[in-house]
Amino acid sequence: KPMKLFTAGPVACFPEVLEAMKIQMFSHRSKEYQEIHKDTTLRLAKFLEAEKSTVLLIPSSGTGFMEASVRNAVPPGGKVLVTVIGEFGNRYREAVERNGRKPIVLEKPLGKPVLPEELDDALKKNPDVEAVTITYNETSTGVLNPLKELAKVAKERGKMVFVDAVSAMGAADIKVDAWGIDLVFSSSQKAFGVPPGLAMAAVSEAVFERAKNIPERGLYFDLLEIKDVLVKQWSTPTTPPMPQIIGLNVVLRIIERMGGKEAWLKMYAERAEKIRRGALNLGLRLFAEPGYYSPTITVIYNPPGIKGPIIYEELRKRGFEIAKGYGKVKDETFRIGHMGYITDEDINLLFKNLEEVLKSLGVKK
Ligand code: PMP
Repeated sequence: KPMKLFTAGPVACFPEVLEAMKIQMFSHRSKEYQEIHKDTTLRLAKFLEAEKSTVLLIPSSGTGFMEASVRNAVPPGGKVLVTVIGEFGNRYREAVERNGRKPIVLEKPLGKPVLPEELDDALKKNPDVEAVTITYNETSTGVLNPLKELAKVAKERGKMVFVDAVSAMGAADIKVDAWGIDLVFSSSQKAFGVPPGLAMAAVSEAVFERAKNIPERGLYFDLLEIKDVLVKQWSTPTTPPMPQIIGLNVVLRIIERMGGKEAWLKMYAERAEKIRRGALNLGLRLFAEPGYYSPTITVIYNPPGIKGPIIYEELRKRGFEIAKGYGKVKDETFRIGHMGYITDEDINLLFKNLEEVLKSLGVKK
Protein backbone atom coordinates (compact mmCIF):
# COMPACT_ATOMS: atom_id res chain seq x y z
CA LYS A 1 0.00 0.00 0.00
CA PRO A 2 1.52 3.35 -1.00
CA MET A 3 2.18 6.04 1.62
CA LYS A 4 -0.24 8.93 1.93
CA LEU A 5 1.92 11.83 0.82
CA PHE A 6 2.18 15.11 2.71
CA THR A 7 5.65 15.74 1.34
CA ALA A 8 7.38 18.82 -0.06
CA GLY A 9 7.41 17.13 -3.48
CA PRO A 10 7.19 14.91 -5.40
CA VAL A 11 3.55 14.87 -4.33
CA ALA A 12 0.57 12.64 -5.09
CA CYS A 13 -0.90 13.13 -8.57
CA PHE A 14 -4.51 13.13 -9.76
CA PRO A 15 -5.37 9.58 -10.92
CA GLU A 16 -6.54 11.19 -14.19
CA VAL A 17 -3.05 12.63 -14.71
CA LEU A 18 -1.32 9.30 -14.14
CA GLU A 19 -3.77 7.60 -16.48
CA ALA A 20 -3.14 10.12 -19.26
CA MET A 21 0.64 9.77 -18.92
CA LYS A 22 0.52 6.03 -19.58
CA ILE A 23 1.12 6.31 -23.32
CA GLN A 24 3.28 4.72 -25.98
CA MET A 25 6.06 7.10 -27.06
CA PHE A 26 5.97 8.99 -30.33
CA SER A 27 8.21 11.54 -32.02
CA HIS A 28 8.74 14.80 -30.17
CA ARG A 29 9.21 16.42 -33.59
CA SER A 30 5.82 15.25 -34.86
CA LYS A 31 2.80 17.45 -35.53
CA GLU A 32 0.93 15.60 -32.80
CA TYR A 33 3.55 16.50 -30.23
CA GLN A 34 3.71 20.12 -31.33
CA GLU A 35 -0.02 20.45 -30.77
CA ILE A 36 0.25 19.16 -27.21
CA HIS A 37 3.26 21.35 -26.44
CA LYS A 38 1.55 24.42 -27.84
CA ASP A 39 -1.72 23.80 -26.04
CA THR A 40 0.04 23.19 -22.71
CA THR A 41 2.22 26.29 -23.12
CA LEU A 42 -0.75 28.53 -23.92
CA ARG A 43 -2.86 27.13 -21.07
CA LEU A 44 -0.03 27.75 -18.60
CA ALA A 45 0.51 31.27 -19.98
CA LYS A 46 -3.16 31.98 -19.33
CA PHE A 47 -2.95 30.57 -15.80
CA LEU A 48 0.11 32.71 -15.04
CA GLU A 49 -1.38 35.79 -16.78
CA ALA A 50 1.80 35.86 -18.83
CA GLU A 51 0.52 36.82 -22.27
CA LYS A 52 3.33 39.32 -22.85
CA SER A 53 6.02 36.94 -21.58
CA THR A 54 7.09 33.64 -23.09
CA VAL A 55 6.24 30.43 -21.27
CA LEU A 56 8.94 27.78 -21.60
CA LEU A 57 8.60 24.10 -20.76
CA ILE A 58 11.87 22.15 -20.64
CA PRO A 59 13.20 18.83 -19.42
CA SER A 60 14.79 19.76 -16.09
CA SER A 61 13.91 20.22 -12.46
CA GLY A 62 13.17 23.74 -11.30
CA THR A 63 16.78 24.52 -10.44
CA GLY A 64 17.61 24.50 -14.15
CA PHE A 65 15.75 27.78 -14.62
CA MET A 66 17.34 29.19 -11.47
CA GLU A 67 20.70 28.70 -13.14
CA ALA A 68 19.35 29.91 -16.50
CA SER A 69 18.14 33.20 -15.02
CA VAL A 70 21.65 34.02 -13.85
CA ARG A 71 23.47 32.85 -16.98
CA ASN A 72 21.14 34.53 -19.48
CA ALA A 73 20.30 37.85 -17.86
CA VAL A 74 23.35 38.85 -15.80
CA PRO A 75 26.80 39.16 -17.36
CA PRO A 76 29.75 37.45 -15.61
CA GLY A 77 30.81 39.58 -12.65
CA GLY A 78 27.43 41.33 -12.54
CA LYS A 79 25.75 41.90 -9.19
CA VAL A 80 22.51 40.33 -8.04
CA LEU A 81 20.59 41.18 -4.87
CA VAL A 82 19.62 37.80 -3.43
CA THR A 83 16.92 37.82 -0.76
CA VAL A 84 17.32 34.94 1.68
CA ILE A 85 14.62 33.77 4.08
CA GLY A 86 15.72 30.14 4.24
CA GLU A 87 17.55 27.31 2.50
CA PHE A 88 16.19 27.97 -0.98
CA GLY A 89 17.25 31.60 -0.90
CA ASN A 90 20.72 30.31 -0.07
CA ARG A 91 20.46 28.05 -3.07
CA TYR A 92 19.87 31.06 -5.32
CA ARG A 93 22.91 32.76 -3.79
CA GLU A 94 24.92 29.68 -4.72
CA ALA A 95 23.57 29.69 -8.27
CA VAL A 96 24.74 33.29 -8.62
CA GLU A 97 28.13 32.62 -7.03
CA ARG A 98 28.97 29.37 -8.81
CA ASN A 99 28.25 31.01 -12.15
CA GLY A 100 30.79 33.76 -11.47
CA ARG A 101 28.27 36.52 -10.73
CA LYS A 102 28.27 38.47 -7.44
CA PRO A 103 25.51 37.96 -4.87
CA ILE A 104 24.63 40.81 -2.50
CA VAL A 105 22.58 39.17 0.24
CA LEU A 106 19.55 40.55 2.05
CA GLU A 107 18.86 37.98 4.76
CA LYS A 108 15.98 37.76 7.23
CA PRO A 109 15.66 35.66 10.38
CA LEU A 110 14.06 32.27 9.72
CA GLY A 111 10.27 32.36 9.81
CA LYS A 112 10.05 35.90 8.48
CA PRO A 113 9.36 37.29 4.99
CA VAL A 114 11.20 40.10 3.21
CA LEU A 115 9.27 43.34 3.55
CA PRO A 116 8.99 45.83 0.67
CA GLU A 117 10.63 48.65 2.65
CA GLU A 118 13.58 46.37 3.49
CA LEU A 119 14.06 45.53 -0.16
CA ASP A 120 13.81 49.19 -1.10
CA ASP A 121 16.45 50.04 1.48
CA ALA A 122 18.81 47.35 0.22
CA LEU A 123 18.38 48.58 -3.35
CA LYS A 124 19.04 52.14 -2.29
CA LYS A 125 22.32 50.99 -0.72
CA ASN A 126 23.25 48.82 -3.72
CA PRO A 127 22.19 50.77 -6.79
CA ASP A 128 24.51 48.78 -9.04
CA VAL A 129 22.75 45.39 -8.74
CA GLU A 130 21.17 44.24 -12.00
CA ALA A 131 18.54 41.92 -10.61
CA VAL A 132 16.69 40.86 -7.47
CA THR A 133 15.90 37.24 -6.61
CA ILE A 134 12.89 36.33 -4.52
CA THR A 135 11.91 32.94 -3.14
CA TYR A 136 8.13 33.23 -3.41
CA ASN A 137 7.43 30.36 -1.06
CA GLU A 138 10.31 29.31 1.19
CA THR A 139 9.80 25.57 1.50
CA SER A 140 12.12 25.24 4.50
CA THR A 141 10.22 27.69 6.72
CA GLY A 142 6.69 27.72 5.30
CA VAL A 143 6.79 31.47 4.61
CA LEU A 144 5.15 33.09 1.58
CA ASN A 145 6.90 36.31 0.57
CA PRO A 146 4.74 39.31 -0.46
CA LEU A 147 5.77 38.90 -4.09
CA LYS A 148 3.54 41.49 -5.71
CA GLU A 149 4.78 44.25 -3.39
CA LEU A 150 8.42 43.16 -3.61
CA ALA A 151 8.33 43.06 -7.40
CA LYS A 152 6.82 46.56 -7.45
CA VAL A 153 9.72 47.93 -5.38
CA ALA A 154 12.30 46.23 -7.59
CA LYS A 155 10.68 47.51 -10.79
CA GLU A 156 10.48 51.07 -9.41
CA ARG A 157 14.25 50.88 -8.95
CA GLY A 158 14.64 49.50 -12.49
CA LYS A 159 15.82 46.00 -11.52
CA MET A 160 15.06 42.66 -13.10
CA VAL A 161 12.93 40.37 -10.95
CA PHE A 162 13.71 36.63 -10.79
CA VAL A 163 11.33 34.47 -8.79
CA ASP A 164 11.81 30.97 -7.46
CA ALA A 165 8.20 29.80 -7.40
CA VAL A 166 9.03 26.10 -7.25
CA SER A 167 6.76 25.49 -4.24
CA ALA A 168 4.34 28.34 -5.04
CA MET A 169 3.35 28.18 -8.71
CA GLY A 170 -0.06 26.60 -9.04
CA ALA A 171 -1.04 27.41 -5.43
CA ALA A 172 -0.16 31.07 -4.81
CA ASP A 173 -1.30 33.73 -7.27
CA ILE A 174 1.20 34.94 -9.86
CA LYS A 175 0.34 37.65 -12.37
CA VAL A 176 3.49 37.71 -14.42
CA ASP A 177 2.81 40.68 -16.69
CA ALA A 178 0.94 42.89 -14.22
CA TRP A 179 3.51 42.39 -11.46
CA GLY A 180 6.48 42.96 -13.77
CA ILE A 181 8.19 39.65 -13.20
CA ASP A 182 11.08 38.94 -15.56
CA LEU A 183 11.60 35.28 -14.90
CA VAL A 184 9.57 32.97 -12.69
CA PHE A 185 10.08 29.24 -12.58
CA SER A 186 8.73 26.07 -11.05
CA SER A 187 8.77 22.32 -11.50
CA SER A 188 6.12 19.75 -12.23
CA GLN A 189 6.35 17.75 -8.98
CA LYS A 190 4.97 20.50 -6.76
CA ALA A 191 1.62 22.32 -6.65
CA PHE A 192 0.45 21.16 -10.09
CA GLY A 193 0.78 17.58 -8.89
CA VAL A 194 2.61 16.05 -11.87
CA PRO A 195 5.56 13.61 -11.64
CA PRO A 196 9.03 15.22 -11.61
CA GLY A 197 11.06 15.97 -14.75
CA LEU A 198 9.45 19.07 -16.23
CA ALA A 199 10.47 22.64 -15.47
CA MET A 200 8.34 25.60 -16.48
CA ALA A 201 9.05 29.30 -16.57
CA ALA A 202 7.64 32.57 -17.81
CA VAL A 203 10.36 34.81 -19.26
CA SER A 204 10.05 38.50 -20.16
CA GLU A 205 11.25 40.11 -23.39
CA ALA A 206 13.81 42.05 -21.33
CA VAL A 207 15.55 38.80 -20.40
CA PHE A 208 15.86 37.71 -24.04
CA GLU A 209 17.17 41.16 -24.98
CA ARG A 210 19.84 40.94 -22.30
CA ALA A 211 20.76 37.40 -23.27
CA LYS A 212 21.76 38.63 -26.72
CA ASN A 213 24.64 40.55 -25.12
CA ILE A 214 25.83 37.68 -22.91
CA PRO A 215 27.80 35.08 -24.89
CA GLU A 216 28.52 33.00 -21.74
CA ARG A 217 25.01 31.55 -21.60
CA GLY A 218 26.09 27.92 -21.80
CA LEU A 219 24.42 25.28 -23.96
CA TYR A 220 21.65 23.43 -22.11
CA PHE A 221 19.97 26.47 -20.59
CA ASP A 222 20.44 28.92 -23.46
CA LEU A 223 17.09 30.70 -23.30
CA LEU A 224 17.47 32.20 -26.77
CA GLU A 225 17.79 28.75 -28.29
CA ILE A 226 14.94 27.37 -26.18
CA LYS A 227 12.72 30.26 -27.30
CA ASP A 228 13.78 29.88 -30.92
CA VAL A 229 12.79 26.21 -31.04
CA LEU A 230 9.51 27.03 -29.30
CA VAL A 231 8.64 29.76 -31.80
CA LYS A 232 9.65 27.76 -34.87
CA GLN A 233 8.61 24.24 -33.87
CA TRP A 234 6.49 24.32 -30.68
CA SER A 235 9.02 21.98 -29.13
CA THR A 236 12.29 21.98 -27.19
CA PRO A 237 15.98 21.84 -28.32
CA THR A 238 16.52 18.70 -26.22
CA THR A 239 14.06 15.83 -25.80
CA PRO A 240 11.07 16.90 -23.67
CA PRO A 241 9.53 14.76 -20.91
CA MET A 242 6.46 14.03 -23.03
CA PRO A 243 4.35 12.25 -20.40
CA GLN A 244 4.86 15.14 -17.96
CA ILE A 245 3.79 17.67 -20.58
CA ILE A 246 0.63 15.64 -21.09
CA GLY A 247 0.21 15.42 -17.29
CA LEU A 248 0.46 19.20 -16.95
CA ASN A 249 -2.00 19.63 -19.80
CA VAL A 250 -4.50 17.43 -17.97
CA VAL A 251 -4.06 19.34 -14.69
CA LEU A 252 -4.64 22.66 -16.47
CA ARG A 253 -7.86 21.19 -17.90
CA ILE A 254 -8.89 19.97 -14.44
CA ILE A 255 -8.34 23.54 -13.17
CA GLU A 256 -10.64 24.86 -15.92
CA ARG A 257 -13.24 22.24 -15.04
CA MET A 258 -13.09 23.21 -11.36
CA GLY A 259 -13.98 26.79 -12.25
CA GLY A 260 -10.64 28.25 -13.30
CA LYS A 261 -7.67 29.78 -11.52
CA GLU A 262 -9.60 31.57 -8.77
CA ALA A 263 -11.46 28.47 -7.68
CA TRP A 264 -8.29 26.37 -7.79
CA LEU A 265 -6.27 28.86 -5.70
CA LYS A 266 -9.17 29.04 -3.24
CA MET A 267 -9.04 25.27 -2.90
CA TYR A 268 -5.34 25.55 -2.00
CA ALA A 269 -5.93 28.39 0.47
CA GLU A 270 -8.72 26.47 2.23
CA ARG A 271 -6.67 23.31 2.39
CA ALA A 272 -3.74 25.19 3.96
CA GLU A 273 -6.13 26.78 6.46
CA LYS A 274 -7.45 23.35 7.41
CA ILE A 275 -3.89 22.08 7.99
CA ARG A 276 -3.00 25.05 10.19
CA ARG A 277 -6.21 24.66 12.21
CA GLY A 278 -5.45 20.97 12.64
CA ALA A 279 -1.99 21.73 14.02
CA LEU A 280 -3.23 24.48 16.35
CA ASN A 281 -6.02 22.21 17.61
CA LEU A 282 -3.36 19.75 18.77
CA GLY A 283 -1.62 22.52 20.71
CA LEU A 284 1.22 22.81 18.19
CA ARG A 285 2.93 26.07 17.22
CA LEU A 286 3.47 27.28 13.66
CA PHE A 287 6.93 28.40 12.57
CA ALA A 288 6.03 31.11 10.05
CA GLU A 289 5.12 34.67 10.96
CA PRO A 290 1.32 35.12 10.94
CA GLY A 291 0.10 36.81 7.78
CA TYR A 292 2.75 35.13 5.64
CA TYR A 293 1.65 31.51 5.85
CA SER A 294 2.45 29.27 2.91
CA PRO A 295 -0.43 27.81 0.88
CA THR A 296 1.63 24.69 0.12
CA ILE A 297 3.65 23.66 3.19
CA THR A 298 3.14 24.21 6.90
CA VAL A 299 6.19 24.22 9.14
CA ILE A 300 5.49 23.31 12.76
CA TYR A 301 7.68 23.44 15.86
CA ASN A 302 8.39 20.09 17.47
CA PRO A 303 6.62 20.01 20.83
CA PRO A 304 8.82 20.47 23.92
CA GLY A 305 11.05 17.47 24.60
CA ILE A 306 11.12 16.32 20.97
CA LYS A 307 14.18 16.83 18.79
CA GLY A 308 14.78 15.66 15.23
CA PRO A 309 12.51 13.74 12.83
CA ILE A 310 10.68 11.64 15.46
CA ILE A 311 7.18 12.68 14.41
CA TYR A 312 8.14 12.05 10.78
CA GLU A 313 9.33 8.51 11.63
CA GLU A 314 6.27 7.71 13.74
CA LEU A 315 3.85 8.87 11.03
CA ARG A 316 5.73 6.81 8.46
CA LYS A 317 5.03 3.68 10.51
CA ARG A 318 1.35 4.58 10.17
CA GLY A 319 1.44 5.05 6.40
CA PHE A 320 1.87 8.83 6.20
CA GLU A 321 4.91 10.49 4.68
CA ILE A 322 5.26 14.09 5.83
CA ALA A 323 8.50 16.10 5.43
CA LYS A 324 11.32 16.36 7.96
CA GLY A 325 12.48 19.73 9.22
CA TYR A 326 14.94 21.22 6.75
CA GLY A 327 18.00 23.42 7.04
CA LYS A 328 19.08 25.14 10.25
CA VAL A 329 15.81 24.33 12.01
CA LYS A 330 15.74 20.66 11.03
CA ASP A 331 15.83 19.43 14.64
CA GLU A 332 13.25 21.91 15.92
CA THR A 333 10.58 21.53 13.27
CA PHE A 334 8.62 19.13 11.09
CA ARG A 335 6.75 19.99 7.92
CA ILE A 336 3.38 19.03 6.46
CA GLY A 337 3.23 19.51 2.70
CA HIS A 338 -0.23 20.03 1.19
CA MET A 339 0.32 20.01 -2.55
CA GLY A 340 -1.12 17.72 -5.21
CA TYR A 341 -3.86 15.14 -4.89
CA ILE A 342 -5.01 15.28 -1.26
CA THR A 343 -8.58 14.82 -0.03
CA ASP A 344 -10.25 16.20 3.11
CA GLU A 345 -10.50 12.63 4.31
CA ASP A 346 -6.69 12.25 3.98
CA ILE A 347 -6.19 15.38 6.10
CA ASN A 348 -8.60 14.19 8.78
CA LEU A 349 -6.82 10.83 8.95
CA LEU A 350 -3.41 12.51 9.12
CA PHE A 351 -4.42 14.60 12.13
CA LYS A 352 -6.09 11.65 13.85
CA ASN A 353 -2.79 9.78 13.52
CA LEU A 354 -0.72 12.80 14.53
CA GLU A 355 -2.83 13.14 17.66
CA GLU A 356 -2.19 9.50 18.54
CA VAL A 357 1.54 9.88 17.83
CA LEU A 358 1.80 12.92 20.11
CA LYS A 359 -0.07 11.04 22.84
CA SER A 360 2.21 8.00 22.50
CA LEU A 361 5.22 10.31 22.83
CA GLY A 362 3.83 11.72 26.04
CA VAL A 363 3.21 15.20 24.62
CA LYS A 364 0.70 17.20 26.65
CA LYS A 365 -1.69 19.55 24.82
N1 PMP B 1 13.27 26.14 -4.73
C1 PMP B 1 12.34 25.81 -3.84
C2 PMP B 1 11.61 26.90 -3.11
C3 PMP B 1 12.05 24.46 -3.61
O1 PMP B 1 11.12 24.10 -2.72
C4 PMP B 1 12.76 23.45 -4.33
C5 PMP B 1 12.51 21.99 -4.13
N2 PMP B 1 12.15 21.61 -2.86
C6 PMP B 1 13.72 23.86 -5.25
C7 PMP B 1 13.95 25.21 -5.44
C8 PMP B 1 14.46 22.88 -6.09
O2 PMP B 1 13.55 22.41 -7.04
P1 PMP B 1 13.91 21.24 -8.05
O3 PMP B 1 14.19 20.03 -7.20
O4 PMP B 1 12.69 21.09 -8.90
O5 PMP B 1 15.11 21.67 -8.80
